Amino acid sequence: MAKRKIAVIGVGKIAQDQHLPVIDASDDFELAATVSTRGVGHGDVPVFRSPAELYNAMPEVNLVSICTPPGVRHAYVREALDAGRDVMMEKPPTTTISELDDLIAHAARLDRVLFQTWHSQYNAAVDRTRTLLAEEGVQSARIDWRESVRKWHPGQDWVWEPGGFGVCDPGINAFSIFTKVMPFPVFVERAKLTFPANRQTPVDVEVAFKSGQPHRPEMSSAFNWLEESGEIWTIAFVTGAGNEVKLERGGRTLRVNGAVVLEHGDAEYAGIYDRFADLLDRRQSEVDAAPLRLMSDVFLMGARETGPDFDW
Ligand code: NAP
Repeated sequence: MAKRKIAVIGVGKIAQDQHLPVIDASDDFELAATVSTRGVGHGDVPVFRSPAELYNAMPEVNLVSICTPPGVRHAYVREALDAGRDVMMEKPPTTTISELDDLIAHAARLDRVLFQTWHSQYNAAVDRTRTLLAEEGVQSARIDWRESVRKWHPGQDWVWEPGGFGVCDPGINAFSIFTKVMPFPVFVERAKLTFPANRQTPVDVEVAFKSGQPHRPEMSSAFNWLEESGEIWTIAFVTGAGNEVKLERGGRTLRVNGAVVLEHGDAEYAGIYDRFADLLDRRQSEVDAAPLRLMSDVFLMGARETGPDFDW
């Protein structure tokens, strides 16, 4: 079967680190064009300065992967759907839940495929954890998500603007795992968000969760964006059977009672593109709003503290 032609919109860090190499290596997709306000291309495919130029010039390209920041994504996705394209979206999907709801309804109305991705969910160790927790229940859960904003978002001022999520941009990856593996719903009980005095989004966030479970599991989470010693991306559970289940390396290593039971490399974006091909075959959309909903509650419930200025 001929490969499906896809265009990448927004050729920043994640497009260059993941989307373009994964498309290059894909059996299902081939890159047909990029859309870049700065004119960033890839290989010898055409580069357009706006999606409208792409849609006019290449009607045969009916798939787009939108890799912009979340604050502008609703407008890009709407425009793509209106132009008759099927759409893959980076995370976090949008800044607000109402925008996401609108995109779901609009895609359905126009009979287009809308695939809203959470890359951290594409790990076999995450799937195994979900099964374990479904079997044994959860007594406690602790998320620790610490990384360097200077390493992962170098010079990206949008992360510090309203709607840029701050440290909740990586933190929502933890929530995308957490909401996927938990066997019961969790809610934000309280949160503390620390904002650099000169910025609009938080650099450090602590959350305590609650649930409707009678055994009152203890659940909490901590995100920090100034960790320069390397990434700490872990979620540790104690199951109802007393076993310690720990996801490390962002969901790529699973330990049970200290022993590694599953460990694998990075196949997240290859998994996402495989899933997109599958959804396109079935003409089916896929959106999981739970991580964004939980993160919105963090902002709604959060107490605000002010910390030192942040400068690159
Ligand atoms: P980035 O390096 O700033 O790239 C985003 C690109 O979007 C820009 O380079 C620009 O590309 C385009 N763009 C269009 N409108 C824009 C606007 N108003 N402001 C800024 N850029 C605009 O950001 P990124 O790290 O790739 O992140 C993009 C998305 O991927 C975010 O939602 C993020 O959460 C997600 N993500 C990032 C990482 C990571 O490691 N950084 C990992 C996984 C997911 P052109 O100049 O080509 O138009």
